[in-house]
Amino acid sequence: GLLDMFKLQSGTMVVRPEAADAARLVRESVDLLQPLAASQGTDLFVSPEGLELPATVDPALLDRVVSNVVSNAVKFTPQGRVVVLVDGDDQCVHVTVRDTGVGVAPEDVARIFEPFEQASTGFARTHEGTGLGLAIVRRVLDLVGGHVSIESEVGVGTTVRVAFPRAWSAADVSPEDGPAVSRPALEGAHVLSVGLDERAEDALDRWISRHGTVCAVSALGRGLREARKTVYDVVLMAGSDGPAERRQTRAVRAVAGY
Ligand code: ADP
Repeated sequence: GLLDMFKLQSGTMVVRPEAADAARLVRESVDLLQPLAASQGTDLFVSPEGLELPATVDPALLDRVVSNVVSNAVKFTPQGRVVVLVDGDDQCVHVTVRDTGVGVAPEDVARIFEPFEQASTGFARTHEGTGLGLAIVRRVLDLVGGHVSIESEVGVGTTVRVAFPRAWSAADVSPEDGPAVSRPALEGAHVLSVGLDERAEDALDRWISRHGTVCAVSALGRGLREARKTVYDVVLMAGSDGPAERRQTRAVRAVAGY
C-alpha cells in the first residue's frame, strides 16, 4: 500500500493496459475475497453472472481498485450481504459495490479518501487496515480517467460506485517530467525504517532516496536507540500491530521531538 501511494503521489505509477474482459477481471478479484467473506458469515456475489465486457485495462491496477473497495465492504459487513454489480456502456465500465454493513458517518465520508484516514483510529480502532485503500483507489482512478463516489448510512450500509473508461492509455511518467504532486512532502525527509525485510527495504530505498534519506535498522531495540539519537521525520516499523511493536511505537512517541 505504501509503495503504491509513493508511486501514485510521485507520478511514477506505470499503467500497462492490455486487452481483457473487464467483467471477468472483476469476478476474479472478488473470488479471491470469498474466503474472507465466508470466515465472517458474509454473503458476497457478483451480478450479473457471465457478463463479458471487452476492454483495454491494466489488470493489476484494476485488481487494486476492486479488491480495496470490496474488501472494505466485506470487512465492515459481518454477517451481512455484499453485492458487486458490473455493467458497461460504450465508453465506461461501472462497478457498484453495495453492502449492508456498519456504514460511515457523514462527517467521516470526505476524509476516508485521504491517505491513512480511518473512521476509527488509534489503538482503539475496531478494524485492521492501513487507511490507504480508498486513497489508492481514488488516485488510480484519477490516473486512468475514472472516478469513485460513496453513499452511506450508519447502521444501514454503504454503496461505493466506481467508473472507469473501457480504454486506458499507458501513463508511463518518469519522475522528472511527471506531476510529482507530493514531492515537497518527501523532499529532504529523514526516514528511519525498523525491522523491514530486505525486499521492502530495497523498495523503500528506491522510492525515498530520490528525495530524502533512509536509515534502516533491523532490530526493534536498535530502532529506539536510533530514534533517541536523531529525530526522524518518519519512522516506519514492520508489523506495527504486534504487542512488541506497539510498545516500541509508544516508546518512540515518548522521545522528545516525536
Ligand atoms: P482501511 O480499510 O485500510 O482502513 P481504507 O482507505 O480502505 O482503509 O478505508 C478507510 C476507512 O473508510 C475505513 O477504515 C473505514 O472506516 C471506512 N470504510 C471504507 N469502506 C467502508 C465500508 N464499506 N463500510 C464502512 N466503512 C468503510
